[in-house]
Amino acid sequence: MDTTKYIFVTGGVSSSLGKGIIAASLAKLLQARGFRVTIQKLDPYINVDPGTLNPYEHGECYVTDDGAETDLDLGHYERFLNVPTSQDNNVTTGRIYQSVIQKERKGEFLGKTVQVIPHITNEIKERVQMLGKSGNYDIVITEIGGTVGDIESLPYIESVRQLKWDLGKENTLVVHLTLIPYLSAAGELKTKPTQHSVKTLMESGIQADILVCRTEHELSDDLKRKLALFCNVETEAVIQSIDASTIYDVPNLMLEEGLDRVALKKLNLDAPGAPNLERWNEFLSRHKNPKDTVHIGLIGKYVELQDSYKSILESFIHAGAANELKVKVHSIHSEHITTENVAGKIEKLDGILVAPGFGERGIEGKIEAVRLARENGIPFLGICLGMQMAVIEYARNVLQLEGANSTEMNPDTAHPVIDLMEAQKSITDMGGTMRLGAWKCELTPDSIAHGVYGDSLIEERHRHRYEYNDNYRQALEDAGLKATGLNPDTGLVEIVELPAHPWYVGVQYHPEYKSTVANPHPLFVAFVAAAYRYASAKKDVSMA
Ligand code: GLN
Repeated sequence: MDTTKYIFVTGGVSSSLGKGIIAASLAKLLQARGFRVTIQKLDPYINVDPGTLNPYEHGECYVTDDGAETDLDLGHYERFLNVPTSQDNNVTTGRIYQSVIQKERKGEFLGKTVQVIPHITNEIKERVQMLGKSGNYDIVITEIGGTVGDIESLPYIESVRQLKWDLGKENTLVVHLTLIPYLSAAGELKTKPTQHSVKTLMESGIQADILVCRTEHELSDDLKRKLALFCNVETEAVIQSIDASTIYDVPNLMLEEGLDRVALKKLNLDAPGAPNLERWNEFLSRHKNPKDTVHIGLIGKYVELQDSYKSILESFIHAGAANELKVKVHSIHSEHITTENVAGKIEKLDGILVAPGFGERGIEGKIEAVRLARENGIPFLGICLGMQMAVIEYARNVLQLEGANSTEMNPDTAHPVIDLMEAQKSITDMGGTMRLGAWKCELTPDSIAHGVYGDSLIEERHRHRYEYNDNYRQALEDAGLKATGLNPDTGLVEIVELPAHPWYVGVQYHPEYKSTVANPHPLFVAFVAAAYRYASAKKDVSMA
């Protein structure tokens, strides 16, 4: 294709309508029709990236191969499309202003007064077109965070207006996601909030081309016609998005409603036949028809908010489907785990995952959970902080190194089995300074990891500051905790395993960021399989 087409997804009426899922579903359909598609998220907050945000604020921080700390919607984009994203796929107001201010300091504006229009909007427009100009994509979908009418999103909306004008009608499209609330007292679906949000968009000079209407009940043809008339869109461009039992149903629901067809028509692109969703639907059918259930404990300290562990939960869905199993994840707050109650909370589970995290809160509970999994042969996967807890647990309870700890939790520990890397010690800025993004890892032959990956050199994404302390490696290995994955350049330990245990793996990296529908992560697939073996063996024993 000669010209890149740009689709903007805006949101009205309320937040949390699932713009990311709609953007990813439309992208999936277009990709399944043979187009090269990417999705970008513009976030209106002032943080330069979400790396410094507490998970309670904004859910999980998702990390790309190139080490960008990004919004969790990028995780959906990758899981749906199976195409890696990068720094360019997530831009915040903070980053836009940082870049404009740096240019101002360098004198690049030649004495001009620097203003929101044109300087901030130009910077936004440049970031939107950067992906298109790479030549790698036919269609770029840009999701604008927030809700129209928010003060913070105004420069973005203005940039969309300008881009529609710059690039032409047939090259740009605005999809407005809105809510059609159901008033149970009146027994009616209400269109007024949508009319108002479309009007708000109009006040900024943008006519929505397509309305995607989130609803709990079917929209009648009459209601669609009414929306079309009052919102100035064609009836076929009023798309119903009814609540789905799984986000992975949304591409098919959008296909039934014709979202991709209408979008392509408006962009003047041919859409012959139907998208090829064969593999996607195979996954869905496995996901929806599990042969059995396996119970996994997710031990973390942000469990109150599901979004905090988004990629882990989605990885379990992919791995469950691969194993034709339903993975029931039991979230357990690590702060509530004690030596006395750990067995009661965990013993019945078929597998234990100790989650990533930062800071001291809840770590003793995590260490107890690791101990119980280790002593009872329960399949165990430790991710990042979870792997560090596994090393600490082994040092304390097997090597008898009393008070062994990470210097993140206790800078004065006598046994810093997890410690800050030399290069990290002088760093004072918190934002963007961790070990981030994809790093190579070489696997030991005959290890679990080697068997799982079927390869000896892998690349996985990182987001941490502290590392396995090599000074304790000999002692830990001699006592049975093997280092089975090393960074080939630095020698840093990336994976620990217990060969004497049925399935015990701790990884310093985050496998969950790379699991997709098309490529379920092999570690999660193997962990779920191990948990199922464990569950089946337990059943056999109890029946004997
Ligand atoms: N807090 C630990 C570190 O910085 C682990 C980070 C994580 O789990 N992502 O090393």
